[in-house]
Amino acid sequence: MQIITTQPEKNVQQVREYDLYLDVDFAGLKYNGKVTADIDSVGDVSLDAVDLHINNVKSGSRKFPFKHTGKLLEVQTGKFSGPLEIEFSGKVSDNFTGFYKASYGEGYILSTHLEAVQARKVFPCVDHPAFKAVFKLQVRTDPNLSVISNMPVESETKEGGRKTVTFRKTPKMSTYLLYIGVGKFVQEKGRHGETDLYAAYADRPTGKINSGFSFEASQKVLDYYESYFGIPFQLPKLHNVAVPEFAYGAMENWGAITYREILLHVDKNTSVRAKKSVAHVIAHEIAHMWFGDLVTMKWWDDLWLNESFATFMDYKSTDRAYPDWKVWQDFVRTSTSGAMGRDALTKTHPIMARVRDPEEIEELFDEISYGKGASILRMIEAYIGSENFKKGVAQYLQKFRYGNASGHDLWSSLQEASGTDVGRIMEGWISQEGFPVIKASMAGGKLALEQERFLLTGGTSKQIWPIPVTMNVDGKTQSLLLDKKRTEVGLPTSPNSLKLNVDQTGFYVVQYEGKDLQELVWKGRLSPLDRWGLINDAKAFLLSGRTPFKEYLNIVERYEKEEEYLPAIEVSDQLSFLYQIAPSRLIGASRKFHAAGLRIFENKKDDNSTTLKGIIASRLTLLDDAYAKIAASKFNELASVEPDMKRSVVMGYARSSNDYDGLIERYLKSTTDEERLRFLEGLVSFKNHELIAKTLDFALSGKVKRQDLRNVLLYATANPDARTAVWQWFKKNIGKLEEMYSGTAQFSIILREYISIIGVGLAVEVEKFFNERKVIGADIALERLRIYDQLAKRINATA
Ligand SMILES: [Zn+2]
Repeated sequence: MQIITTQPEKNVQQVREYDLYLDVDFAGLKYNGKVTADIDSVGDVSLDAVDLHINNVKSGSRKFPFKHTGKLLEVQTGKFSGPLEIEFSGKVSDNFTGFYKASYGEGYILSTHLEAVQARKVFPCVDHPAFKAVFKLQVRTDPNLSVISNMPVESETKEGGRKTVTFRKTPKMSTYLLYIGVGKFVQEKGRHGETDLYAAYADRPTGKINSGFSFEASQKVLDYYESYFGIPFQLPKLHNVAVPEFAYGAMENWGAITYREILLHVDKNTSVRAKKSVAHVIAHEIAHMWFGDLVTMKWWDDLWLNESFATFMDYKSTDRAYPDWKVWQDFVRTSTSGAMGRDALTKTHPIMARVRDPEEIEELFDEISYGKGASILRMIEAYIGSENFKKGVAQYLQKFRYGNASGHDLWSSLQEASGTDVGRIMEGWISQEGFPVIKASMAGGKLALEQERFLLTGGTSKQIWPIPVTMNVDGKTQSLLLDKKRTEVGLPTSPNSLKLNVDQTGFYVVQYEGKDLQELVWKGRLSPLDRWGLINDAKAFLLSGRTPFKEYLNIVERYEKEEEYLPAIEVSDQLSFLYQIAPSRLIGASRKFHAAGLRIFENKKDDNSTTLKGIIASRLTLLDDAYAKIAASKFNELASVEPDMKRSVVMGYARSSNDYDGLIERYLKSTTDEERLRFLEGLVSFKNHELIAKTLDFALSGKVKRQDLRNVLLYATANPDARTAVWQWFKKNIGKLEEMYSGTAQFSIILREYISIIGVGLAVEVEKFFNERKVIGADIALERLRIYDQLAKRINATA
C-alpha cells in the first residue's frame, strides 16, 4: 500500500485529542487558528498541513523548530508526549473542498467538505481515517453569524464585538468527518427519541428550504437503522445542513450532514422524482452515521465498504419507509445497471482498489464503489439469507465501534453469523475487476452453464467468479454456486419455463443460446425485476455486438404494452440513449414506444407511474414536434401543471418557441433549485445551435450555480441537436471546468458520462483532442465513445 500521507502503517505517533480554535474573518475569507494536539510520538512529530501558513509550534513555554514543506509539517520534537500547540493561518477556499465559500447570489456561507484528504487544508493534523481522535472545537467570528459543527454548542460568549462558540467534545472519529459551517443560518428543530434533529439552511429573502419532508424521512430511517443495527444513534443531535453550492450530492459529516439544497427541499411543487431522491440521499447519509462514521474503513482502498454499504442500506430503509415506491426496482436500474455499464469496460478496476495518491481517491467515488459493491452485498444477502446478513452486520458494528475495520472483518462476521464461506465468494468479487456472462445452453436434456468475462469491447479473459446462480424452472427456484468454468444441471423433461438470475440478485448477465431456450425464458411468470433483467441484458449484448440491432428491436417489441414501471422505464431509458447516439434511425421506434407509454400510464396515479409519465412526456417533446406543441400550450399556466409534468411543458415550450429570453427570465425569477434546473433543461432543449451555445455561455456567467453545470451537460446530451454546440463549448472551456472542479471527481464524470455520447460521430476529432490534452478520465470516456460510435455505425447500416 502506497501512502499519500506521511503516516506510517504502525502507529509511531498517535493524536488522542485535537483542541481546535479558529478565528474566522468571514468578510475577508481567511482565518487564524490554533490547534493543540495531545500527541504521543516515538520520534519527531510529522503532521499533514497543506495550503496553510504555520506561525509557530510550542509545548508550554518550549518552542520547537519546524519545517513546513507545503505538504508536511515536520516538528523537531524528538520522542514526544503531551500537548503540542500550533499557531497557523489559512484562506477560505473557492473550489468546493476544504473550508470553502458556498455562494447563493446575495451572499454566502462557509462550509467544510473534508473527504477524502482535505482536513489537512484546514488545520495541521494526522489526516488518515485510521487515526481517530476526539475533537474539541471553538470558533470565533462575527456576532450575527451562527456556527454549526458535529456536536451541540456548549457555550456562546460575546466579547469585543466578536462571538465565540464552543462545542462539546466529539467521540473518537476520523478527521475527514469533522464539520464546520459558518454563516447566517435558519435552523429548524425536531426530535427523534433522545436525539435533537435540525434542518439548517442559508437565511435569505428568497429560497426558503421547506424541510418538513426531510424531517419525516430522517425520523423514519433513524428508526429503521437503530433497530436493524441494534445500536442507537450515537450523538446527542443530528443536523441536516443545506449548502448552497456543493460539488457532491451530500456528505456524511458525523452529526452534521451536508446536502445540496435541492436534496432537503420538498413542497407542493416538488416532483415525485425529486422527492424520491431526497428520501434516498437522506437514507444513504444517515446509514453512514453507523457505517463509515462509527466504524470506519482502515484505509481508502476500502472506501467501497462505506459507500456500497450506505447505498445498500439506503434501499433497505427507504423500502421500509416508503413501500409504495418499490425501490428495489430503482436499485437494479440505477446501481446495478450503472455499475455493469462501467465494469464491462476494459478500463475498470476491482471494487477494492489500490490507492496511491489523492487524485486516485477521488476517482474511486464511482459506480464500482457504490453500485457494484452494493449489488454484491445484495447478492450475498440473497445467498446467506437476510436474517443471517443482519446478524453479521450488527456483530461487526458492535465489535469495531469507534474504531476501524476492513472488508475481511465484515466477511468474518457474516461468515460467523451464517456458517457459509462468505469470505471466499466475496474475495472473488471484490479483488478482481469485471463481471461474468453466463452462457446457458441445452445439452442432452441438461442445462449447461458456462461463464466468461463480459466486455463491451467484445473480448474476454480467463477469469472465473464464484457465482451464486439462481434459476426458476417451472415456477420453482433453485440455486447453485458456479465456481468453475462450466457445469451442467439436470432439468425436468421438457420444462415449460426457465429463467436464470431470479429477481436479478446476481451481478452477471445471461446469454441464452438456441431458439428453444430463448422461447422458454418468456414463457414463465416473470416478475417486473425479471422482465427488467431480460431487457437490461439485451442492451449489454447489443452494445457488445453479441446481439444484432434487429434482434434487439424484436425484444423491445415484447415491451410495447408494458404496464409495469420498472421494465417500462428501462425501455424508455434505452431507447432514449440509443436515440442520442443514432437519432435518425431511432426516432421512429422511440416515438412509438413513448407515445404508447404515455397512453398506458396516463390514468395511473401511484408515485412511480407519476414519475414515469413525467419522464416519458419530457422525452416525447424531443421526438415529436406535434407533442411538443401540445405540451407548450400549458406554459402560461405552468404553476398549476402537475409537478412531474412541468419538465415536459418547459421543454416543449423551448422546442416550439425558441424563446430564449423568456426562459432566461423565468430561470432568474425561480426560487428553488428544481425550478432552476427545469428552466436550464429547457434552455438546452432548443433545436437551434446558436441558442444552445448561448445557454452554455450563460451557464458560466456566474448566474448558474457551479455545481449545476453538470446537469446542464446531462440535459444537453439528451438532445442530439445540441451536440456540436456542446463540443465546441467544451473545448473552449475545458481549462475552466478542470479548475472549477479540481479536488473532486466531477470533471472526469463529465468526460465519461457526457463527452462519450457527445463525441459520437466526432470520434476522430475527440480522440485527437484528448491525445493532445491528457486529463484524468479521458481514457474511460474514449473507450466508451469508441463502443458507442461503433454501435451507431452498426445501427445506421441496418436495413
Ligand atoms: Zn456515501
